[in-house]
Amino acid sequence: MSGGLVLVRRRALGDVVLLGAVTAALDAPATVVTDPRYVELAQRLVGVGHAVPWGSARPEGRVVDLQRSMQTLWAFPFAARVRKHSVARRLRVRGWGRGRPPVTALYGRAVGVVPREPPWFVLPEIERHTLALIPGASTPLKAASAETLVEVGRRWSGRTLVLGGPGEADLVAHVTSRISGAEALVEHGFARTLLRLASVGVAVGGDSGLLHLARACGASVVALAGPTHPDDGFLVGSRLSVVQRSLSCRPCTLHRATTCRVGGRPCMELAVRAIWAAVCEAWCALGHPH
Ligand code: SF4
Repeated sequence: MSGGLVLVRRRALGDVVLLGAVTAALDAPATVVTDPRYVELAQRLVGVGHAVPWGSARPEGRVVDLQRSMQTLWAFPFAARVRKHSVARRLRVRGWGRGRPPVTALYGRAVGVVPREPPWFVLPEIERHTLALIPGASTPLKAASAETLVEVGRRWSGRTLVLGGPGEADLVAHVTSRISGAEALVEHGFARTLLRLASVGVAVGGDSGLLHLARACGASVVALAGPTHPDDGFLVGSRLSVVQRSLSCRPCTLHRATTCRVGGRPCMELAVRAIWAAVCEAWCALGHPH
């Protein structure tokens, strides 16, 4: 393997998925270097020719480091790199400034393309009749309230799919068991998840990798934003609506915090009525009757 564009993004799921915004805009297939658990997924993004696991032989070509960590700096010292706007992010967490541009725009700038909107996967063209509920997230702080998702699922009269990743089987089972007719899907890889996401019209969940994956697959997304905020550049774009509360403690994290400093996580006490209105709006925008 030699020449061509090499994109480096090790983690996390949502950030790897967002690579699709630039790979879909390329004239020639790119190579992606990512953590082994995401290789299968990255390989399926539109515009990706190869995906290779981090730690294997380094592919040759024009390298763009979209992770910009100490490890990627060390491994690819001559790469072009994404601008992370770290100062703007930290200031925004302290209540100052306006955050940073959309992450897809930052990726696009680093690579030299205009980012594309989803879908970023080629999936079977089937009717998008399913509501997906995503109760998990990389940290419990960012996860949607299971009770709230259950309430939303009980209002939905069509098919409901409750999605989770490794380690979330109990949480998914808890939500699924309380919604009549709902199905559960938890897997370690992504093959079945991608297949089922092809039938999802609207997905609801916290700021999580699976929510970004649902959007990348062409679903409309209702994001429940708590400790994170659209100003951090992840929850932006078309067919994406954000339900959130205006609290002075928001945003409180750059994604990795695990405790709520005010206690009880009131940022995720979101009105079911508002979420349901966003779901209905997204559903109608797909051309379905109310
Ligand atoms: S309520 Fe405030 S402090 Fe607590 S997790 Fe949410 S944003 Fe952070």
